[in-house]
Amino acid sequence: MKIKKDFPLKKFTTISIGGAAKYFVVIKKENELVAAIQSAKKFKLPWYVVGEGSNLIVSDTGYQGVIIQNQIKDFEQKGLNTFVGSGYSLLRFVLEADKLGMAGMERMAGIPGTVGGAIYGCAGAYGQEIKDHLVSVRFFDGKEFRNLTKHQCRFRYRSSIFKKHKNWVIVGVEFELEKGNARQLLKISHDIIKLRAIKYKSGLKCPGSFFKNLIAAEIKVPAVLKDQIVYGKLPAGVLLEQIGAKGMHEGNIRVADHHANLIYNPGNGLCSDVRKLSTRLKTLVKKRFGIIIDEEVQYLGFTNN
Ligand SMILES: Cc1cc2nc3c(=O)[nH]c(=O)nc-3n(C[C@H](O)[C@H](O)[C@H](O)COP(=O)(O)OP(=O)(O)OC[C@H]3O[C@@H](n4cnc5c(N)ncnc54)[C@H](O)[C@@H]3O)c2cc1C
Repeated sequence: MKIKKDFPLKKFTTISIGGAAKYFVVIKKENELVAAIQSAKKFKLPWYVVGEGSNLIVSDTGYQGVIIQNQIKDFEQKGLNTFVGSGYSLLRFVLEADKLGMAGMERMAGIPGTVGGAIYGCAGAYGQEIKDHLVSVRFFDGKEFRNLTKHQCRFRYRSSIFKKHKNWVIVGVEFELEKGNARQLLKISHDIIKLRAIKYKSGLKCPGSFFKNLIAAEIKVPAVLKDQIVYGKLPAGVLLEQIGAKGMHEGNIRVADHHANLIYNPGNGLCSDVRKLSTRLKTLVKKRFGIIIDEEVQYLGFTNN
């Protein structure tokens, strides 16, 4: 196992923010995961599993424990069934599935991060979600390896049972995809990757959408915004645009001029400024619409973790 001491997490997160982790360990196998957790426990250090840091906002003071970066990358395919290690890149998996003529993942092309990170937050895009063709999830509960069926994972919009059990580590996922045409699937994925590049320009330091969209059935959608509902959700970006979020900033952290739900770090930005900007935006939306918007991003290094 590779262990780094005082590792600056800004080198790891896609928003390029975060102080140092006391220890940063890369694991590639299940037994390494168990060993890393046992060592952390032995030295009474907190631990936290990450994938590729594409949804993380880390405190400027860093993390006084062990960051375990998951790189379990098994890949076994039998017919339309595939077992993928949770450290496998989601994009790579989508393109592999496309090439093998297995349909059901193609519209998620371009979501950064690992398969494990995607399961944790029930990632999705363009009408597809990671849960759609999932059969079961294998995870480590701190004592033993167990499996959960799709139903037991309690997937909801950007949520799963793993958000309630922070010490459960996803190690692998079984999917059952549908038969499709490889050429058509690859075309869909590549077209979506091109489309996404308009919103997320190459080199942009960000964690994807900052706030979760709102499930239209669960809120009182203002009458003038009813025609903005997409796939049953009111995009948080629509509300943020109305309060003039585009271009707002705190210190070196900015809301993009072209998208109100995109907070980015032009360089040398601080987590404290992300938090200030986020609070300001939430307050303005609440005041104007009476609607509470919640972060999709995951904070790390604060009192709750
Ligand atoms: C440019 C850009 C575009 C994006 N677009 C989208 C999009 O369209 N749709 C979307 O849903 N998301 C999107 N995201 C957000 C992000 O890519 C997803 O949330 C992704 O699934 C996170 O994966 P990760 O491996 O990077 O996880 P990390 O960011 O490393 O971790 C995120 C959370 O998952 C937990 N976690 C990670 N791995 C495991 C594991 N093996 N077991 C248990 N918990 C784990 C971590 O503890 C943490 O709480 C985007 C991000 C960026 C930067």
